Amino acid sequence: MPQPYSAVDLHCHTRASDGRLRPEEVVAEAARCGVQLLAITDHDTTAGLDEAQRAAAAAGVGLLPGVELSTQWQGRTIHVVGLAIDPAAPGLVAGLRRLDTERQRRADAIAARLDRLGLTEAASLARADAGDARLTRTHFARALVTVGRCKSVGAAFKRYLAPGRGAYVAAEWPELTEAMDWIRDAGGQAVLAHPQAYQFGSGLRERLIAAFAAAGGGAIEVCCGNSTASDVERARREAEMHGLCGSIGSDFHALGQPWAQLGRVAPLPRTTKPVWNRLR
Ligand code: AMP
Ligand code: MN
Ligand code: MN
Ligand code: MN
Repeated sequence: MPQPYSAVDLHCHTRASDGRLRPEEVVAEAARCGVQLLAITDHDTTAGLDEAQRAAAAAGVGLLPGVELSTQWQGRTIHVVGLAIDPAAPGLVAGLRRLDTERQRRADAIAARLDRLGLTEAASLARADAGDARLTRTHFARALVTVGRCKSVGAAFKRYLAPGRGAYVAAEWPELTEAMDWIRDAGGQAVLAHPQAYQFGSGLRERLIAAFAAAGGGAIEVCCGNSTASDVERARREAEMHGLCGSIGSDFHALGQPWAQLGRVAPLPRTTKPVWNRLR
């Protein structure tokens, strides 16, 4: 089968959060992959956007400033991408500061748990690897691989970092609708990220999408880096039913990751309205 391909990719990560490449390297990789419109959407930070903007202008790649916010709805973690945001908007800046504080609190608690498990070295490696970046569970998972405790990042999540495991610490993320307000105040469009990733029964998923649309959500990710054809079809129907546009995002983090590379995502179904037609 030929690789799916889209010239638009509106969800990816850099070293500002849990991506492996620097912002300018992500832009260069996007250009190499034929991506013409890219959004960089790091977890809870806009720190990579200036460097990316300079690189994109030089490479002739269209770049939308973005962010992926960690939120909660009905006590469950939901990720919302903000596209075409103004990173200097005061409401967003204050929200990101709050998220940073919560990430640091949770990282300290994860490190304390790893300590008790005799994995102190992994905890300090994770911090060193992150440097100034937002410290995520991905950094801890990679460190557990580096010290030889786990075979893969996926295995490290399963054994230590997933809910109920020994180094898991729940985070108090802001409410979904509150985070959506920060995106709106920053002039952006809110996009519900990777709807197939939430382990919800169909009733709960239906209610989530209805709540997201009612709160002013603009789009859902119809085509994601790991969506199956039936995931795409389901999200297409949901977008249509709730008057939402569709977005495309690989959720690229690193070269060689198990899911899609930049732009290696199916194009939107013909009848889905592209979210990028709504962006400035
Ligand atoms: P955090 O926001 O710090 O809780 O970390 C969430 C990030 O961890 C996600 O954005 C993914 O990049 C990564 N992640 C979550 N679960 C897994 C998994 N099972 N395998 C690999 N990466 C994962
Ligand atoms: Mn991530
Ligand atoms: Mn996500
Ligand atoms: Mn992501």
